[in-house]
Amino acid sequence: MKAVVLDKIGSLNNLRYTDIPIPEPDNNEMLIKVEYCGLNHLDLLIIEGKRLGPKTFPHILGSEFIGIIVKINSKDRNFKIGDRVAVYPWTFCGKCEQCRRGNENICDNGGTFGRTRWGGFAEFVSVPVKNLVKIPSYLSSKLVSASVLSTITAYHMIKRANIKNHATVLVTGATGGVGTSAAQLLKERKCKVICATNHNSKVKKLKELGTDEVVKTNNLINEVKNISSNGVDYVIDIMGGNVWSKGIELLAKNGTMVFCSTTLDDPGSVNLASAFSRQTNILGSYGGTVNDLREVIKLLQKDTIKPVIDSIYPLEKTKEALYKFDQQKAFGKILIKCSI
Ligand SMILES: [Zn+2]
Repeated sequence: MKAVVLDKIGSLNNLRYTDIPIPEPDNNEMLIKVEYCGLNHLDLLIIEGKRLGPKTFPHILGSEFIGIIVKINSKDRNFKIGDRVAVYPWTFCGKCEQCRRGNENICDNGGTFGRTRWGGFAEFVSVPVKNLVKIPSYLSSKLVSASVLSTITAYHMIKRANIKNHATVLVTGATGGVGTSAAQLLKERKCKVICATNHNSKVKKLKELGTDEVVKTNNLINEVKNISSNGVDYVIDIMGGNVWSKGIELLAKNGTMVFCSTTLDDPGSVNLASAFSRQTNILGSYGGTVNDLREVIKLLQKDTIKPVIDSIYPLEKTKEALYKFDQQKAFGKILIKCSI
């Protein structure tokens, strides 16, 4: 099969489009012919060695994909060859306490497709049956594939923070897959949504998405305080690092920040005295659960959310697509079309 493999950690130059054998599904796994795979910041972090990644090479990246079942090595009767399925991006044991509580995203023995096992930048991937969710026939493959990691991350953050209708919410890093999904989900709750970006070219697109205000990330404190002098009820932070720290400063009393990203080289900092005296809440949020994926698919069916797709590249152009993504030129998701 065709695949884009990573030969070693370092840079995008270590990616190579090549032929490798089609994987054999293990027990309780099914072979998926990948239709689309979405790009995520996680791919870049793994390539750069900023997130714990594969132990052996070559490795196949790509965490967010959907496809068609073409081979079955399982007694599970819920699926058959030809079914179109979304793949839950985080691997989980199904046995630990967190899995039993439905928190598969923080499984004690968990991993991620494209990080700890081969992912979707390939024509075929073998996937445990418990990671599969059927896609209704009338839903677009592109829309679902742009949602299975990004939208469920946004959905899980909003649930974690229990964001109330009509609240004022700041979304940082608002122009990617998670941010554009968060903005749409918040508008559904009639929230006042303030999105932050440094890209002038993306302001108009954020407004078209229903965003009430757009502010500059590099002048975040001043611009948000001009809009809401007492701060905001919630911050959804997708940037991490020093933006994370500014987000906490912008919380109103009793406000809540929920964040889904930070890197080791810029972990951010918090003034604990201020968090204590203003009773602010800081919540980490890691991906989403299997149930979140099922619920997001229902929201797609109802047209509550429509993931923003920037562009679609063929599998052999995955490296070029990742360059574009790395240069922050995309608005919404970049997808890779992995098979014909
Ligand atoms: Zn588990």
